[in-house]
Amino acid sequence: MPFQRGKEARRRWRISAKLLIISSVATVIGFSAICASVMLDMRRGEEEIARQTLENLAAGIDADISRNIELYDLSLRAVASNLEMPAIRDVSKELRHLILFDHAATAKHFGAIQVFDPAGNLSIDAASLDPRPENRGDEEYFTVHRDHPDTGLFISRPMLHRGAYAIVLSRRITGEDGRFLGVVVGSIRFSYFHDLFGRLKLAPGDTITVLRSDRTIIMRTPFDLDVIGRNLAQQLDWKSDNLKEGGAFAGKGPVDATPRLYVRRNSASPLYVVVGKPLESVFNLWRTEVMRIGAIMAALIMFVLSTTLVLAREIGRRADAEDKLEEMATTDALTGLRNRRKFDAEIELEWRRAARQGQPVGLLMIDADHFKAYNDTFGHQAGDQVLVGIAICISDAVRRAGDCAARFGGEEFAVLLPGASPIEAFNVAETIRLKVEQWCEGELITTVSVGVASIKPAAGQQWSNLVEAADKALYAAKANGRNQSVLASPQKIALVA
Ligand code: GH3
Ligand code: MG
Ligand code: MG
Repeated sequence: MPFQRGKEARRRWRISAKLLIISSVATVIGFSAICASVMLDMRRGEEEIARQTLENLAAGIDADISRNIELYDLSLRAVASNLEMPAIRDVSKELRHLILFDHAATAKHFGAIQVFDPAGNLSIDAASLDPRPENRGDEEYFTVHRDHPDTGLFISRPMLHRGAYAIVLSRRITGEDGRFLGVVVGSIRFSYFHDLFGRLKLAPGDTITVLRSDRTIIMRTPFDLDVIGRNLAQQLDWKSDNLKEGGAFAGKGPVDATPRLYVRRNSASPLYVVVGKPLESVFNLWRTEVMRIGAIMAALIMFVLSTTLVLAREIGRRADAEDKLEEMATTDALTGLRNRRKFDAEIELEWRRAARQGQPVGLLMIDADHFKAYNDTFGHQAGDQVLVGIAICISDAVRRAGDCAARFGGEEFAVLLPGASPIEAFNVAETIRLKVEQWCEGELITTVSVGVASIKPAAGQQWSNLVEAADKALYAAKANGRNQSVLASPQKIALVA
């Protein structure tokens, strides 16, 4: 069954075109997903490296600040505890200076230590044996100790202190009976931070922020006096939720709009350090790489998809060509009816189906009458036109799906009528015969004789029996005088079988 194989092959072509497109698209999606995942991994890697670098930087800064505060605090504590001894009041000013103040407190960026009495009056100044009277009873670094005995080391907001911007460190002096004896005060000047940050190599856009535990900005680089002393407690950025101790946060900071990767150092000191690097410079290399690989991927995807489309179209074209070839291989060139090859395949198929379903198969064998004479009179080409005419008459009469009209050979035609009873087949035969008769009016009359048979396939019967029966009926029609349809009688069919 060549035509069946043809259909099958065509379906396979179409399936293979679809498979090609599906597999190409799946491959493209798969590769894109792998690529995207690798890119994201790279991004995470870049972020991790930046984070580690920032952590190391923050650790270095924090260590320096913590050590200096601790040293200075030691001096303050020494003063506070020495002043608690009653005997200290009896010694001379010079000796008291020597006892109270060590040289650590005279380091470059540290302000001179001062002692204020319970009323806030300056009583002792490391810088002078006879300090000028001043009262600091209203300052926060004084009142906080007076009102809250458990404050410990107090670090003030950044302020102008003794002619320079500084943070003031203070401790309470407590008598043996717990009485408030005053406050010992020192300061660390901003020059300390400028000096510390100046020694670091920072890229443009990098920031270092030192904050007090209540989130007041103590110092920031790049330096901006407006920012110093600002309290971030009310601000949403850098909340303790998104910037925990030892944690990192990528986004907008509280000071400017530049999105940065911020890392907060886990610190034991009352100040903590946050260092930031613009995300732009963190992901700069990564972005360049993404652009490069993205462009290559896009080019590859375009190439794969366009190649796939070209191939799929080619497959479709071949399938169409096969369709046309098969059409040509099964059609009679002169009449446009099915050819003998197709008819043989069709009758085989219908015969089997009818045998399975217990249905009859009808067959008409149609032969032009005296056609030799027609040819001899009008020529072969005119004869051909008559054959085309007869074919049109047949096609007009045979319209049911499944019916098959074919040119059987020379001037003979066969019409297969699956499911047609003998009477139905005979009626179709008569329709064809009359159509031919009418069509030929006016010219030399051309008629056809039709042999009709309809058989319900029985066991052991072949479709050749049906052809034989119809042939015999055709012979009878010819013998009977032509231009008529003859139905094969059941007896004759039985004989044929
Ligand atoms: P009848 O069938 O009525 O007994 O007479 P007939 O003249 O048709 O007899 P026969 O079947 O012996 O002749 C068939 C003729 O059909 C022979 C040939 O000239 C003609 N013929 C066969 N094939 C073709 C064809 O393709 N074109 C043309 N023009 N003529 C054909
Ligand atoms: Mg013939
Ligand atoms: Mg004939």
